[in-house]
Amino acid sequence: MQQKTVTMAATKNVALVAHDNKKQDLVAWCKKHQQDLAPHTLFGTGTTGAIIEQETGLPVRKLISGPLGGDQQIGALITEGKIDFLIFFWDPFEPLPHDPDVKALLRIAAVWNIPVACNHSSADVMVASTLFRGSFDRKVPDYESYLKARLASA
Ligand code: PGA
Repeated sequence: MQQKTVTMAATKNVALVAHDNKKQDLVAWCKKHQQDLAPHTLFGTGTTGAIIEQETGLPVRKLISGPLGGDQQIGALITEGKIDFLIFFWDPFEPLPHDPDVKALLRIAAVWNIPVACNHSSADVMVASTLFRGSFDRKVPDYESYLKARLASA
C-alpha cells in the first residue's frame, strides 16, 4: 500500500482508555505526568475520561463509555487523523468481554501508525520522548491511491 507522510504538530491529541482494573493505574500515571499532559488535548472513553478529569483536574474530551462504543469512537477519530497517541491500559487478566474491542482498536492504531502504550512503563517511555512534545512526521496509508487501486481492480 502506498503511504504518505503527515506531520504531527507539537500539541497532540492523546487518547486515554483503561479497563476497570486498570483505571487507578492510569489515574496514577496521569498524576505523575500531569505537567507533560497539560499542553495536549486529551480524549477518553466515558468512564476513564470522567475519572481522570475528576482526579487530576485535566480537561478530557469524553466520548461514550467503552462498552457502549467509546473504543470505536476513538478508532474512528484515529482514521480521521484526529488522534496522535493512544494510551490504552487494557486488562490482560480479564480480556474476554473486551477482546473484540481491544483487537479492533489496536488494529486500527497499527493501520494508521499511531504510537500506542498498553501499560504504565511503555507510557512512561512514550511521554519521555522528545517526540511527545515536538512535531514529527508519521507515515500513514495514502487513501486516495488505495481507493484508486481498488476501483481499478473492481
Ligand atoms: P470506560 O471504557 O472508560 O467507559 O470504562 C473503557 C473500556 O472498557 O473500554
